Amino acid sequence: MLYKSLGSSNEFVNFEVALKKGLADDGSLFFPKKIKKLDHKFIQNLENYSDLDIAYKVIKPFIGSTISEINLKKILNNTIDFDFPLIELEKNLFTLELFNGPTLAFKDVGARFMANCLDHFSNINSRYNTVLVATSGDTGAAVGNGFLNSKFTKVVILYPKNKVSEFQELQLTSFGNNITALRINGNFDKCQDIVKKAFIDKDLKKKFNLTSANSINVARWLPQTIYYFFALKKLKKLKKHNVAFSVPSGNFGNICAGIISMKLGLPISHFIASTNANDTVPRYMQSKIYKPLKTVETISNAMDVSNPSNFIRILEVFENFENLKKNFSSYSFNDIETLDAVKEIFDKENYVLDPHGAIGYLGIKKYMSLNKCSTGVFLETAHPIKFSELIEKKLNTKLTQPIQGKNLSSKKKIFYELETYNDFKKFMLEKPI
Ligand SMILES: *Cc1c(COP(=O)(O)O)cnc(C)c1O
Repeated sequence: MLYKSLGSSNEFVNFEVALKKGLADDGSLFFPKKIKKLDHKFIQNLENYSDLDIAYKVIKPFIGSTISEINLKKILNNTIDFDFPLIELEKNLFTLELFNGPTLAFKDVGARFMANCLDHFSNINSRYNTVLVATSGDTGAAVGNGFLNSKFTKVVILYPKNKVSEFQELQLTSFGNNITALRINGNFDKCQDIVKKAFIDKDLKKKFNLTSANSINVARWLPQTIYYFFALKKLKKLKKHNVAFSVPSGNFGNICAGIISMKLGLPISHFIASTNANDTVPRYMQSKIYKPLKTVETISNAMDVSNPSNFIRILEVFENFENLKKNFSSYSFNDIETLDAVKEIFDKENYVLDPHGAIGYLGIKKYMSLNKCSTGVFLETAHPIKFSELIEKKLNTKLTQPIQGKNLSSKKKIFYELETYNDFKKFMLEKPI
């Protein structure tokens, strides 16, 4: 399969090139040139396939011949070696837990897949890479973990000072070895601006093979299609049909991957993009006017995005507004509603949501109250321990530490604190990272 640019140029590249470049020459996102439906017998018999076989069948067309079958299976095996439990919270309402990976957020799947693929290609060409990643909390940890101890790739994480939780900061700053953390005196947008500038900086490009690891990169974005197949496999076993998915959305990469799974033939009746107060897309669905406002800070910080990069990919799939509206809804919820939902589910079901999952829950509840759909699933995208200060206070209870977080509090934070682009550039050119 080839990837095309969603901009005006006629650039077509294979998976390897799309992965290494991140963006097309015209600055636009890459998108599969053609998405063919998978064999319907495979989809009808999903419950008879192993998770690894499902992952391989789903991902193979996007990779084409750039990676051999044996190597792709190895990569997928490394990517999905943890559980994706589907839990029925209320009758016909399920949560799909995506946070059981090494860094306790759903981004582990995309980040590990990308890291494994990049290392695979680098090994063949003996190419050394430097991944720059701006993070509002979860991406940096997932990408750092994915590339930790890589022989070919160094990672530089930029995160905003005082805007990530204590747990997240410990994760970001304690990797060591080939992972460097930069604490930026500013907000997430500033981190992202520095990364964007770096990619067009001639001096930096001379010294490094720079690669971005945000969800604009097809290698981080597409593997997320897999867990929608895993969920449907489980729902089929339970004889549940007519399924709608609510996805807590920030940059809209995860939900767009779900939409791709529908395009591949997976029977999903509707997608709900649930957002926090950054409500550009919910407003767009009402008014047809796409007008990002200034980003506002919320307690679901991984979704504090006002101009979601992947929305253009969703528009590309659905082609026109009517078709979009038929398959896709979007609702926004504020911090008070979010925390109240955390409390409500804890009191009723003894289940602890994180703020992102709580928004997903609110989205599916709202959709199911307005529409007919027999089965609702919302994605739980982060482990609540990542936001323990907030959650423990609201619920007046102590959360159990998962094994992934057990030794974290004894680790030492190591980071450099920087402020401007010039600080950053000087750092990159002078320090041995
Ligand atoms: C990144 C993130 C999101 C948003 O995902 P997008 O693909 O950017 O829409 C939601 N929840 C959590 C916990 C995240 O880390």
